[in-house]
Amino acid sequence: MIFNATCTSCGSINKTPSHYEGISIKCVSCGHKFVAVDPKDYLFKFHCSRCGGRIEAKEKYRGTMAPCPHCEQVVPVGDYTMSTKKLQEPESKPETAPLITSTPTSKLKRIIRRIFGQ
Ligand SMILES: [Zn+2]
Ligand SMILES: [Zn+2]
Repeated sequence: MIFNATCTSCGSINKTPSHYEGISIKCVSCGHKFVAVDPKDYLFKFHCSRCGGRIEAKEKYRGTMAPCPHCEQVVPVGDYTMSTKKLQEPESKPETAPLITSTPTSKLKRIIRRIFGQ
C-alpha cells in the first residue's frame, strides 16, 4: 500500500509505502525531513454544533456522526463551519436587509391582489 504524505515544509506530495507511516522521511522535492502521516489520519479541529466545545477528529471521520466528548450528544463531525457562516451573515449587512425584504413583499402583495382581487 502507498499513501500520499504531504511535506510539512514545501507541501509537495510524497508517495510513501505504508510501512513508513509515522516514521520520519525525507521529502523528494526539498529534502526536508518530516513524519509521514496518512492524510486520512490528519487531525482537524471543529466545534460541536450542540455545545460549541472544541473537538479534534481524524480527517477520515469528517461528515460522519460522532458523540461529542463535552456534551455527549451525537453531532455531525466537521459541520460547525457551515453554521458559523450562517451566523455571520446577518452581522455583515444589517442595514440593507430590511430594504431587500420590503421590495419583494410589496410586489408580492400586488401579485396577490391581482390574483385574489383583495
Ligand atoms: Zn518538501
Ligand atoms: Zn458538545
